[in-house]
Amino acid sequence: MFEYIIIFIFGTIVGSFLNALVWRLSVGESVLHGRSYCTDCHTSLNAGDLIPLLSFFLLRRRCRYCRSNISWRYPIIEACGGLLFVLAYSIFLKTAPDGLAQSLLLGEHGRDILLLIRNWFFISVLLALFYYDLRWSLLPDSITLPAIVIGLVFQLILLPQQFLFIIIAALVGAGFFAAQYLLSRGAWIGGGDIRLGALMGVMLGWPGVLLALFVAYIVGAAGAIVLLALKLKDRKSAIPFGPFLAGATGMVLLYGDQLMSVIRNWYGI
Ligand SMILES: [Zn+2]
Repeated sequence: MFEYIIIFIFGTIVGSFLNALVWRLSVGESVLHGRSYCTDCHTSLNAGDLIPLLSFFLLRRRCRYCRSNISWRYPIIEACGGLLFVLAYSIFLKTAPDGLAQSLLLGEHGRDILLLIRNWFFISVLLALFYYDLRWSLLPDSITLPAIVIGLVFQLILLPQQFLFIIIAALVGAGFFAAQYLLSRGAWIGGGDIRLGALMGVMLGWPGVLLALFVAYIVGAAGAIVLLALKLKDRKSAIPFGPFLAGATGMVLLYGDQLMSVIRNWYGI
């Protein structure tokens, strides 16, 4: 229980970092330099203003310096980070029931720990892409391209026997969107989707990438119907597809095996 709390807090800190990362990328600032600041009054924030989740509520949703409203998006992304890190950790516990601290102390489960770190990294990338595309309808190369390279390194270490299939999955993922891009001359989807397709293949391998595409289209279609029915969007407005792709990829990353067996049962194969 104690480890769950620590990992939840760790996830909210990563979520807070992703908020800053997404903001800085969107305004073209360096990610590594400079302190966090209020996006309204540009006052540098101190540690007390930057506690994930807590600061938002302690400050009553307002900047301490200029009193402007702080968006609900920040604590939501932080909470998502915390929850997703805990979910990934609960999967780690299935193979290493002693927990992370004990495994590190005993020097056991090295591969499982690396797998957990890989999943935390993938989840962070997906959360950043989800948020960025939802807010700015863009999947920035400055996130997808480094993630593809780092993801390949993880997979080469963790899954050397499946590495060829991971490359094939990345090519299929990218090719799926590249074909639509060429057919529509860039009208249906953007180039960012092609890079995300490759990243999905790197993260999920084969046939996980197909499963994630399938889930994304089902959920995307259902989501579009709901948004149209509630009149939150009209037929002409574009609904960004990246959040559905990122969400489906995260789902298959963590629960791909269970999803696969549900589908197998459904079709009796
Ligand atoms: Zn301010």
